[in-house]
Amino acid sequence: MQLAARMARLGTESAFEVLARAEALRRAGRSVINLGIGQPDFPTAPHIVEAACRALRDGHHGYTDAQGILPLREAVAAHLREQTGAEVSPERILITPGGKVAMFFAMLACGEAGTEIVYPDPGFPIYESAIAFSGATPKPYALHEDLGFSFRAEEVLARIGPATRLLILNSPGNPTGGVADPEELEALIRGLERHPHVAVLSDEIYRRIAYDGRQPASLLGAPSLADRLIVLDGWSKTYAMTGWRLGFSVWPDRLVEPAVRLAINDHSCVNAAAQWAGIAALEGPQDAVERMVRAFDERRRAVTQALREIPGLRCATPLGAFYCFPNVSARAPSARALQDALLEEAGVATIAGTSFGRFGEGFLRISYAADLDVALEGVARLGEFLADRAS
Ligand code: PLP
Repeated sequence: MQLAARMARLGTESAFEVLARAEALRRAGRSVINLGIGQPDFPTAPHIVEAACRALRDGHHGYTDAQGILPLREAVAAHLREQTGAEVSPERILITPGGKVAMFFAMLACGEAGTEIVYPDPGFPIYESAIAFSGATPKPYALHEDLGFSFRAEEVLARIGPATRLLILNSPGNPTGGVADPEELEALIRGLERHPHVAVLSDEIYRRIAYDGRQPASLLGAPSLADRLIVLDGWSKTYAMTGWRLGFSVWPDRLVEPAVRLAINDHSCVNAAAQWAGIAALEGPQDAVERMVRAFDERRRAVTQALREIPGLRCATPLGAFYCFPNVSARAPSARALQDALLEEAGVATIAGTSFGRFGEGFLRISYAADLDVALEGVARLGEFLADRAS
């Protein structure tokens, strides 16, 4: 049996491997603290669960419109208007089984051999994987620790050339918790006016998980990008619905038909009951979201502080998402070796920065989507592990 050559270009997301290893150690009786996980540790709010049950009882058992049921797309449009002030027609909204699918579709629609796609490093590992799979050449740009893991506009613009088809932005970002510096973002949007052939994929899946009263801007507010902007968002993180597989994206007019065609070829439509639950999430009470973000904020402060108390570690203040990205380079030459030893010897699951690109060397991703005491116990184990190794 022979695999297609393109399969060699498809990467993976090591968070899933770390999760499997952590579970195996747990089954073997080891105490394992999981700070590797990329999903909220909260249940979906009961009114959302009830809406899905009701949809099933009401007979929503069949295929739906491939683009997503109209009432859901209308609810997304109303939500975007309220959140960002942008007027987005439901005709431009695509509902997918998770935001990740829209990411893949953007690469497949734009990338091919001989073209380039520019993306953040450290960044969500599926960007590079899907870019390479499409045949395009992945062109990373760096996120900078000293800028709170923002990009520098001039560096991003310098990566763009005649073969560039797509630029990916992600703020707040995975794995860093960084938010794009507003001045750099403005300079980038201005600079992109010189490159009208480049589409932009703005991954805004963590937009509503932000701290210190800062709501990161949606690129939907940038009129100069309107005819070439894809926005990816969804319910997974904001509404603690990762297992429901429900995401939405906004496409420019020219890409709507190709994106829907990809959906028809790929999955036909999204689970009908999940779509009705998505309406309840957007239109119902938002107090569960607010409570979750407040809990994340408390943990963010405590975990960042605890990491900074470990000798030799630095930790930028994360402004969004639910990750800290401490710099461990003074204590560990290889982030991957530290990730493995920490899990096997100290029972703490984290993800090496290198899982997110080569600029992630020297960093660990610590998720605080875990109970505060548990997260602090994990950081204490990291401190003890490093102290033992030093002695
Ligand atoms: N974008 C980023 C940056 C993410 O971290 C994730 C999930 O971890 C996604 C998109 C996709 O989320 P989902 O497919 O669950 O909507």
